[in-house]
Amino acid sequence: MRTRLSPDAWLVTQSGFDRATANVFETLFTVGNGYLGTRGTLEEGHEGELSGTYLAGVFDSHDAAVADLVNAPDWLSLSVHAGGVRLDVDTCVVVAHDRILDMAQGLLWRSTVFEDERGRRTRVETLRFASQATRDLCGLRMWITPLNHTAPVTVEGALDGRRRNLDRLPAYPPGTEFEPAVRWDKWAKSKHLKETAADAELCYLQMRTIGSGVDIGYACAMSCSPAHEWTASRDHERVAHRLTAEVAEGDTLTVTKLVTIATSRDAGVTADQPVRERCLAALTEHAAAGFDECLDRSVFAWQRLWADADCEIVGDPAAARAVRFSVYHLLIAANPDDPTVSVGAKSLSGEGYRGHVFWDTEILMLPFYLHTRPAAARSLLRFRHHTLPGARDTAARDSARGARYPWEVAGTGHEECPLWTPDGRDRIWTGEQELHVTADVAYAVLRYVEATGDTGFLTDYGARILFETSRYWADRVDHDEKAGTYHLRAVMGPDEFHPGVDDNAFTNRMVSWHLEQAVLLHDRLTPAEVAGAVPDLTADEVERWRAVAAGLVRRQPRDDGVIEQFDGYFGLDEIPVAEWDDNDMPRYPAGYHHFNTDTTTLVKQPDVLMLMYLLPDEFSRADKVANFRFYEPRTLHKSSLSPAIHAIMGIEIGEVEHALRYFTRSAFVDLADNQGNTAEGIHIASAGGTWQLTVCGFGGMRVQHGMLTFDPWLPAHWKELRFRIRWRGDAIGVAIEHTRAVFTLDAPAGTSGSIVVRGRQVELTAAVPKVVQLSTDAELVTR
Ligand code: BGC
Repeated sequence: MRTRLSPDAWLVTQSGFDRATANVFETLFTVGNGYLGTRGTLEEGHEGELSGTYLAGVFDSHDAAVADLVNAPDWLSLSVHAGGVRLDVDTCVVVAHDRILDMAQGLLWRSTVFEDERGRRTRVETLRFASQATRDLCGLRMWITPLNHTAPVTVEGALDGRRRNLDRLPAYPPGTEFEPAVRWDKWAKSKHLKETAADAELCYLQMRTIGSGVDIGYACAMSCSPAHEWTASRDHERVAHRLTAEVAEGDTLTVTKLVTIATSRDAGVTADQPVRERCLAALTEHAAAGFDECLDRSVFAWQRLWADADCEIVGDPAAARAVRFSVYHLLIAANPDDPTVSVGAKSLSGEGYRGHVFWDTEILMLPFYLHTRPAAARSLLRFRHHTLPGARDTAARDSARGARYPWEVAGTGHEECPLWTPDGRDRIWTGEQELHVTADVAYAVLRYVEATGDTGFLTDYGARILFETSRYWADRVDHDEKAGTYHLRAVMGPDEFHPGVDDNAFTNRMVSWHLEQAVLLHDRLTPAEVAGAVPDLTADEVERWRAVAAGLVRRQPRDDGVIEQFDGYFGLDEIPVAEWDDNDMPRYPAGYHHFNTDTTTLVKQPDVLMLMYLLPDEFSRADKVANFRFYEPRTLHKSSLSPAIHAIMGIEIGEVEHALRYFTRSAFVDLADNQGNTAEGIHIASAGGTWQLTVCGFGGMRVQHGMLTFDPWLPAHWKELRFRIRWRGDAIGVAIEHTRAVFTLDAPAGTSGSIVVRGRQVELTAAVPKVVQLSTDAELVTR
């Protein structure tokens, strides 16, 4: 089976089993399709595993302080006994262990050779996938080969509903370390599922989330070659099929497991076709097609996804693989067919941030989707429309009208931000103060419309989002009548080291921009369209938006061009960053941590620089240089969202010497576990940031004054960078070398279009590659 894997450039590998990194690989090797994600846990499990399958939108708050993305029933479980000995890493010696994530085909391959204490060696090889062709389907095949003995082999495949979510870590003394095998046992665990139906013969299990009442059905078909009899069994919250076969030395027993999943959230699930029927009908269909055909269909779907989404770096294989790894995870995170879900901060790959959705989606990830998979971008934005009722309630908590998006959102659209850290030591203020997410959503809506030309989205969904949220801002601002100014007080910008600040530069400008755009949109729509969006909107309200947009304090650069991050920031203590860890990440200066840096000018992640990235037309190059030079040395990058934006801004202003360093921090955040918490899930915003860094940083792509523009720069050892961009219904293939770039418009014959490259307008004609000279080698050196 190893032979069916793709060329090396598409593979992420693990060699040998190491308990200390096992949970990291579980995250890295997640397979999924936007409907579900299954961590790369060993099929037979191991002590200290952090396993999980997560279903998009299936949240529950029973027994937990805030909603959890539910650790759903396990479909993977497949254990083997050879000669009476359980084959697993705790019982046997692991002679060899190799796993490979094949990103091109969306599958995980594994080969392990176990040796028991009598010296009997058995190889277990597996291949698993979550189908990108039909998202309700997962497949697993296992080949069991006794290498130096003949033995009875017993295989048991189960559907297991006995799952728990990690809840909170009791307050241990700082620095307490646990053995990997017991690390997660220390957590309090919440139960979110109860069994509502189980049928051992059919291998069907149905669980219900206790608080939110979502029915989840799993059906499984097991088969075996050569054929053997299966015995069905049922325990509490678990069904299993088991067989025993005599397998001769060198022979192989092949076991196949096809699993379908349905929930009462799914569009096709109705009273006529409830979860159980839906699940079993889908299983019959997939089982008739067979494992190989199901896998082929998924691989074909993957090929189509990659045709639009691949970024290829020629000349730096490690960088190329890391960028593809980011794209792979972005492709398994979103489901274009479900507008009631979004992508959480750890996608469907772990329980970090409890599966909650942040601004990460609109600001860090959305550009990837809107330029490679616009249908997914549309769906993600529809999620914000879908959750407007929750956003209205959140605004009401601030005694304001309109809608305010929560900082952390799960299924219902209500604020799910915990008030305290998991150890109960520190208060978290983001839910109350990090208001900018609301403006970020408005920004994303308009970026989507600009990039796709889908103006229908505005009348169907976008206008309501923009208007209801503008209503919130109009109530939330403070008016200084004497000065004629408006203020946003007691907020937190993207830099979470500084809670409760006034007039944060990022928040204020994003909000006034949001209001300006809402007014422009209002003026463009017909009265009927406006009434269709917000029936009771009055002309006075729109006038107020205009006034607030004009009067909301806009922080101005001081003489040296630096913009003060918020009122009073320049007066804070200057504490130099002097140490970096083994992953080249800055360390907190001695005595400082996340919750006491508010007295210093240290920043967690870009704030002013983020504003300059999002609104590039508003700032001069000199301002960008000044702010980069000021804020970059003060930034600790304690968010994985940070490095990519710094690299992009550095490249834009020509300070390229940091670019590769930041690229490494961003693209390898999970592959190198450089934030130390990859075990809890993929940093999917960082994956989006890495894509932006590749395309918008090295590729130099921006949308400026409504045009697609490119100002590329490649590191010296990169030979070429290739990617493809969806733009207003067509696509543009981009191939950048150091001295030239080739742009190919992929559109119906006769179509033409313009882009801007290094400030010059370039005309493109469908299917005719356009070669643009970038610079001579001499110019390159001086850049
Ligand atoms: C960052 C936020 C981000 C959140 C979820 C935090 O550490 O500061 O900007 O939204 O993580 O990724």
